[in-house]
Amino acid sequence: MNCLFCKIIAGDIPSTKVYEDELVYAFRDINPQAPTHILVIPKAHIESVNAVSADNSSIVAHIFEVIAKIAREEGLENGYRVVSNCGDHAGQTVHHLHFHILGGAELNTQM
Ligand code: 5GP
Ligand code: ZN
Repeated sequence: MNCLFCKIIAGDIPSTKVYEDELVYAFRDINPQAPTHILVIPKAHIESVNAVSADNSSIVAHIFEVIAKIAREEGLENGYRVVSNCGDHAGQTVHHLHFHILGGAELNTQM
């Protein structure tokens, strides 16, 4: 499959790993928008939030457990933002579900 994030999971494209288990991979965004900018993705190819269903939502629940763990380990005790861009209006550029963790500084409060 011609998916950038599937290639990152496979190790065909290098990335800076932050966390990995059997279901989830997390790595640093190549173009950080905050001092800490991490992407958390399911190892299974899920296109976007629109493709979350009863069949795969347990993976998404697990991703949020991982997000909380990563935030603690990265020292984001002052807060952080979790973002998932879905579709064209949100500017989704990679069509493999991903959650941005943004933190390390006070973030812009605008949408
Ligand atoms: P989206 O815009 O789809 O929500 O987010 C895609 C994110 O993937 C962007 O923040 C972009 O910087 C990041 N990204 C794109 N290509 C690569 C890559 O090859 N490696 C890493 N680490 N991040 C990437
Ligand atoms: Zn993929």
